[in-house]
Amino acid sequence: MIVRYLRRLFKCAKMPVIVILGATGVGKSQLSIEIASRFKGEVISADSMQVYKNLDVTTNKVTAEEMAGVPHHIIDFVDPVDSFTVVDFRNRALPIVERLRESGKIPVIVGGTNYYIESILWDTLVDPESIPGSDFAASTQMFPGCDESSESLHARLKEVDPERANELHPGDRRKVLRSLDIYARKKKPHSEFLKQQAKAGGLLGGPLRYDKALMLLIKSDQSVLEERLDARVDKMIERGLIKEMLDFHKQFNESRPKHDYELGIFQSIGFKEFHKYLISSDEFRESEKGKKAFQASLWLMKQRTKRYSKEQMKWIRRRFLQAPGRGVPPVYELDATDLERWNENVRDVALEIVEDFLNNVETPRHKPVEIREVEREPVSQRVCECGTICMNQSSWEAHLKSRQHHRKKKKLEEQKNSDPDAGPKRLRVLKESKQSGDGEKSSADLSEQVKEAGNCA
Ligand SMILES: [Zn+2]
Repeated sequence: MIVRYLRRLFKCAKMPVIVILGATGVGKSQLSIEIASRFKGEVISADSMQVYKNLDVTTNKVTAEEMAGVPHHIIDFVDPVDSFTVVDFRNRALPIVERLRESGKIPVIVGGTNYYIESILWDTLVDPESIPGSDFAASTQMFPGCDESSESLHARLKEVDPERANELHPGDRRKVLRSLDIYARKKKPHSEFLKQQAKAGGLLGGPLRYDKALMLLIKSDQSVLEERLDARVDKMIERGLIKEMLDFHKQFNESRPKHDYELGIFQSIGFKEFHKYLISSDEFRESEKGKKAFQASLWLMKQRTKRYSKEQMKWIRRRFLQAPGRGVPPVYELDATDLERWNENVRDVALEIVEDFLNNVETPRHKPVEIREVEREPVSQRVCECGTICMNQSSWEAHLKSRQHHRKKKKLEEQKNSDPDAGPKRLRVLKESKQSGDGEKSSADLSEQVKEAGNCA
């Protein structure tokens, strides 16, 4: 009895947590199932959209067949009208991780949503709920969606919290709203909370929860991944994406007073992009114009998917790969650029890494990546005459040399010459702009290109 108890105790002390990271479409789910099958593990999904019931195609849920008998947790159980936060996720995930480790099984955490993964790995000193609005606490609860323009919201923030407003791009509506929300609820500027949090050691300031954890980062050449993502969206259409979204729209979205796509499952990529198409009549959808609208929405969905994949990698670099001194568990990179060689480049390497790790091999066959600090550029906001907003000096310099800048400037000059009333148009470009991964804007461009491609708007 005692021996059995000790063995169990010994076993759970040794049972590691395996995390699989990477951008969307890179093959995380597949690898998680391969690892769980081989090492007697179970998959815990860390994906803020897949927690919801419904929209299986839109949110790319693994099918029962793909699961290959491996149990999956925290997937497909929240009602689409309910909210689900990172705190809800953490509270649900931790007991599952514990239970698995106690029973000698490996929890394979796969995401998706990187701050969900952080909430499992780090026992943060500051409860994410007490610092609403931080990236970490990016919950689905937010300031009630309002009709105000992004600039006017940013101006409002500037009045109550100039420090925070200066750090945020006016087009970054989500973050601006969140900071306004915090001010409204806590009667204290968000920047104050952020300072407190930094003093407490930052978001990753707490200790790691598990002494043995391992991270597998699946990477792919971005251009190859983008081709794959385009193909995946096309495949989703074949699998009934439109019907699924139409049904969902009728059931849950149509009756909502405002079609707010920044809450819960409504944030799923595709939904907002197809909004105009979904709310149209059947006749319109079948018309020539409707077909054009479909193509434009499809194009937007692909663009957003690709942008999202870049944002995910940026987060991973910033929070894990470039965050020394925070106890980030060893991160091993796997190259999924060549899908033909998935088995040898990804699956087999991953299995070797996990095997060596489980066996505490003295000289493992593979090496983790070096976690290195990268100095960050200070924020300095500048607005270009073409309407683009840059958040730091290097993006500003790059912008001035960019084709985008010259193209927009030329367009504005032409407008000015032919239309003395060009001012409001320029403002509209500004309004539509939104921050992209490189500190510069791109959706003004996006909407322009869509107009050219025949926008549904
Ligand atoms: Zn410019």
